[in-house]
Amino acid sequence: MAKLIDGKAVSQKIKEEVRDEIESKGLDVGLAVVIVGNDPASRVYVNNKKKACEFCGIKSYEYALPEETKEKELRDLIRTLNNDPNINGILVQLPLPKHIREYKIIKTISPKKDVDAFHAENVGRIVIGNYAFLPCTPAGVMELIHSTGTDVDGKECVVIGRSNIVGKPMAMLLLHENATVTICHSHTKDLAEVCRRADILVSAVGKADFVTADMVKEGAVVIDVGMNRNAENKLCGDVKFDEVEPKASYITPVPGGVGPMTIAMLMKNTLSAKYLQS
Ligand code: NAP
Repeated sequence: MAKLIDGKAVSQKIKEEVRDEIESKGLDVGLAVVIVGNDPASRVYVNNKKKACEFCGIKSYEYALPEETKEKELRDLIRTLNNDPNINGILVQLPLPKHIREYKIIKTISPKKDVDAFHAENVGRIVIGNYAFLPCTPAGVMELIHSTGTDVDGKECVVIGRSNIVGKPMAMLLLHENATVTICHSHTKDLAEVCRRADILVSAVGKADFVTADMVKEGAVVIDVGMNRNAENKLCGDVKFDEVEPKASYITPVPGGVGPMTIAMLMKNTLSAKYLQS
């Protein structure tokens, strides 16, 4: 029987630390949250981020723009926020409407205010190990792994997924802690066999029931980044929880695993941004 990794508890502790630091030092910290269009999932994420800001004592400034907003208008807003001393972090909720090029928007955010760490400068800094911010979801996963007391050094780690947001930076953070890392994707041959090597298996695929018991080594730490809807429209991860859980030593639930960590790490990054700009 695996032990559940309680993302809610770990994330709460991180938010409390951020809150206490802001309170004790009397800091004025501001996060701009930009949302374009009416995607209901994005709306939920933005509301959760605003709630976390409120908890931590970070001022959140919401910019809700209509779906038909032009790319130039969005870039102009970001340039204004880059120059606004009340704003320490800028978060543009993804995905953006199809007519807006995400890379152009990310490129416009000042690297010093890029609390998602998606800007090419911050990505490069992560690769060379000299970073101000870590991308929120992979950084949250590392916190969860640490919370189990597992030493990553020398472990076989397999990351399924190679997106710029999750898979690639996840692999980099594990590598920084001296893991032997394999990244899998849709062209990987014998995926189950590769996954079975993992002492730590991180799944970031986006498909319900993707990771099955035959892909998991006995005693592995299993981290489920996936956020999917099952046939009953219930939120679920990538991992077939009921059959994988008995084989794992530790496992994250969905919901209540990686999800809350992403927001907590965003709060942490926003506080780091404040220091970076002081
Ligand atoms: P993404 O950009 O769609 O990437 C998915 C990755 O999975 C791709 O690299 C893809 O490979 C790989 N993949 C797809 N089918 C596969 C298969 N049959 N075998 C092996 N690999 C396969 O997704 P993402 O943005 O990284 O997000 C992944 C999941 O994490 C989603 O469910 C998302 O909602 C969730 N997520 C959660 C949080 C959180 O806070 N909990 C944050 C971010 C994302 P190719 O590159 O070859 O196509």
